Amino acid sequence: MSTLLLKNADVVVTMDAARREIAGGAVFIRDRVIEQVGPADALPQTADELIDLRGHVLMPGLVNTHHHMYQSLTRAIPAAQDAELFDWLQALYPIWANLTPEMIRVSTQTAMAELILSGCTTSSDHLYIYPDGCRLDDSIEAAAEIGMRFTASRGSMSVGQSQGGLPPDRVVEREDAVLQDTRRLIETFHDASRHSMLQVAVAPCSPFSVSRELMRESAELARSYGVRLHTHLAENVKDIAYSREKFGMTPAEYAESLGWTGHDVWHAHCVQLDAPGIALFARTHTGVAHCPCSNMRLASGIAPVPQMLAAGVPVGLGVDGSASNDGAHMLGEARQALLLARVGHGPAALSARQALEMATLGGAKVLGRDDIGALAPGMSADCVAFPLDDVGMAGGAVHDAVAALLFCTPPRVSWSVINGRVIVRRGELTSLELPALMRRHNALARTLASAAR
Ligand SMILES: [Zn+2]
Repeated sequence: MSTLLLKNADVVVTMDAARREIAGGAVFIRDRVIEQVGPADALPQTADELIDLRGHVLMPGLVNTHHHMYQSLTRAIPAAQDAELFDWLQALYPIWANLTPEMIRVSTQTAMAELILSGCTTSSDHLYIYPDGCRLDDSIEAAAEIGMRFTASRGSMSVGQSQGGLPPDRVVEREDAVLQDTRRLIETFHDASRHSMLQVAVAPCSPFSVSRELMRESAELARSYGVRLHTHLAENVKDIAYSREKFGMTPAEYAESLGWTGHDVWHAHCVQLDAPGIALFARTHTGVAHCPCSNMRLASGIAPVPQMLAAGVPVGLGVDGSASNDGAHMLGEARQALLLARVGHGPAALSARQALEMATLGGAKVLGRDDIGALAPGMSADCVAFPLDDVGMAGGAVHDAVAALLFCTPPRVSWSVINGRVIVRRGELTSLELPALMRRHNALARTLASAAR
């Protein structure tokens, strides 16, 4: 057992039951669990390792509830720069069809490095395309190596263009193979215990790329193992039109008809969720991954987040895939959530602290976890420290350091502790060599794009 003391933070944002913010605060960690939180002078003064956080805000590690990390290889692709969702997908499917296992591993680590440096300590990833040899195991290995807490979502696509779906036939899988592999992954990797570093979720890609049968059978399979369910829903108006035309229902009605509502389900986007849909999600505790940057990038619209929160829908934040949010910054995503909510719903729609709560407690709830998202005794030791001396924070941190982190330019973390382990030390990743990773990642990104030509 080893101990770690993080002390003298200008402010500790606890996100505990009382939402305490402690000036001159400290957190005492034993092994991988938080043991004490409070004013620095009330806590132990020594530990095996001591980190002085003067000039920093210390907060719970941020939680990312939706991503497609392999897309880091296809950022800013010219043909997909100015398109809405369906056209954007059709420009990118042929490129993604040539992914290799190494590309999955390297892009996942690159995306995780970026997320970790932006304050994220737990992330889900939704991998739904499996060209020859690619497996979710590649993402899982990448996460273990970098040391990130991970919800690996076994995505799938089974309805190709010849069957009226959106993806080309050569990137879809057989449904029996999908279910069999999903079962294997849960049995091999899913860890349901408290402080788990790895959970597996069942995640058919979207209503426009899998069948009703696969949606229904995925839900049954997930529930037989007690794991979570994830997909994309009600992303834009074309998505709604597809649902009405193909199924004669709104996306929320379609989800309900297939067993895709409940406390163990979270849906990405829900930009076009209507009032009955919001009421349904609230009643059933169905979660939402709100992805403001991606929704703006693809001109999908403005999600009714204040209405969801008022109704009691669990809402977390997601950066979404790197090809529809080409700059994944978790604290920055909270900032964009704040700004976009105001564009859609007025200046009081979302406060800085509400946005931060979505990025921490909200994300934890959506991923079905009660051991992350807050700094309190018994919680997993995931915490991050943001510096207040960045020029982008000048003149803001002096008035309200916590709000300034969102209103001003979001900085990168100086320190990140995940599962009790220091993963970022003075702004540098400790678990892998970032420049070498990026060189390999960029070489693979070129290879992938040229293979599609
Ligand atoms: Zn997505």
